[in-house]
Amino acid sequence: MDARDEVVTPHAPGPSPTGGHPPHAPRATGTGRERGSLGIDRDHLPELLEATRAYAARLLAGLGDRAAARTPTRPAPASLPEAGIGLRGALEEFARRWEPGFAAGAGPRYLGFVTGGVTPAALAGDWLTGTLDQNPTSGLDSLAPDLEREAVTWLRDLFGLPSEHEGAFVSGATLSNFTGLAIAREWLGERRGVSVAEEGTAALGPVTVLSGSPHSSTVKSLSMLGLGRSAIRRVGLLPGREAVDVARLAEELDRLDGAPAIVVANSGTVNTVDFDDLRAIAALREHHPFWLHVDAAFGAFAALSAEHAHLVAGLGEADSVCVDLHKWLNVPYDSAVQFTRRRDLQIRVFQNSAAYLTPVGDVPDLVHLTPENSRRLRALAAWFTLAAYGREGHAEIVARDIALAAELGERIAAMPAYRLLAPVRLNVVCFTLASSPTPAGIAEVADAITESGEAFLTPTVHEGVPALRAAFSNWRTTESDVERIAKLLQEVVNQA
Ligand SMILES: *Cc1c(COP(=O)(O)O)cnc(C)c1O
Repeated sequence: MDARDEVVTPHAPGPSPTGGHPPHAPRATGTGRERGSLGIDRDHLPELLEATRAYAARLLAGLGDRAAARTPTRPAPASLPEAGIGLRGALEEFARRWEPGFAAGAGPRYLGFVTGGVTPAALAGDWLTGTLDQNPTSGLDSLAPDLEREAVTWLRDLFGLPSEHEGAFVSGATLSNFTGLAIAREWLGERRGVSVAEEGTAALGPVTVLSGSPHSSTVKSLSMLGLGRSAIRRVGLLPGREAVDVARLAEELDRLDGAPAIVVANSGTVNTVDFDDLRAIAALREHHPFWLHVDAAFGAFAALSAEHAHLVAGLGEADSVCVDLHKWLNVPYDSAVQFTRRRDLQIRVFQNSAAYLTPVGDVPDLVHLTPENSRRLRALAAWFTLAAYGREGHAEIVARDIALAAELGERIAAMPAYRLLAPVRLNVVCFTLASSPTPAGIAEVADAITESGEAFLTPTVHEGVPALRAAFSNWRTTESDVERIAKLLQEVVNQA
């Protein structure tokens, strides 16, 4: 069923979704004065929430049938409402003007980027986040920050990090990388006898950041941190791989002649999901001073699979670690975690002194840990899904997605029209057209997939070859989805 058929009318079935009275018509009250839509909504809150819930349930029930991605025509612009149309009216407007253009990003065949879905418990946690609207910044008024600390501890356990790692929630892996690299910058200052937090980046002098296949967000973070995008020096990779050649990394470090540096190791590159050898990199610290930051945005979830945990062996030896949660943990967007062994430096960077906040103590308020001050209790969705499904439930999601990626990889390898560009190491299949792939040819295939509504895959370029990626990180995806995608891939090349 198309979720739009019946929008918000559980209490008012009939031709009009609003049940016969215009949603925005202010109704007379006992005082004889007309009331605004906000007052009306307050009086009808339970029914309105029920209508919203029913609408959401219909949207979720239709997720498998909704087009995986849309290339829609935009609705005509609307101007700012003066009086407002109330929640019921807003739901109808949203359902009419915007929802048809929304993708099934949370659905089972959205395999673009690295995109997680939302588990039932994560969704409930997200709803309750807005319902209770806590500000976990300080512990002056609520236990909300303690719940967040509990969720961080659970996540540390989930990824097998040692207790020296302390964590904090941020909005996504980009901010997690940014926060880790900000701590790294402060560490460089410590080595050089300056505090960047106090004196600014100018006091630091030139900085070298070494990395094999850094994610674009690492480069963006260097720009935001005042270190500059050009601070990054790309280290040679192992032949045919996206993993760094540790011997060449050692050579680069030798060349720095004892000057401290930052090394960004990558656990799970986006094209072929390759992993740097973290143990070997960490061992280089015996002879070279560097801060080891690991971008394990989705690769950290390999730790949940006994057969793949070796890929992230040594993660705990990092000085800072980035893990995204709105990818493979399957919580709604706006969630990642940042771990570090040097909370003292983290606080130096992010402390926020104000007369109305408590001083930084042994258990620092969350306001002193990340770029944000006031923010939502984003830990609640993660807490709910971990409480509801535990390590086993989440390990099962990871194992299934890995198996599905392997299966699609096998099917693609068997199709004469395509070839794999790398072995399927974890949850992403990176492949291209068998004969002379061009950017236009790949775009044509990607567009045909999108147009079909069946699936969504994103294009990329790997070692100069235009390619496509299918990334599995959704708890809803099943074998029958893989069958549909394989069939679709065959159809689109037949048509081309
Ligand atoms: C997705 C991703 C990021 C950025 O994450 P956002 O959640 O989009 O900020 C960083 N690094 C890697 C390896 C990623 O896969």
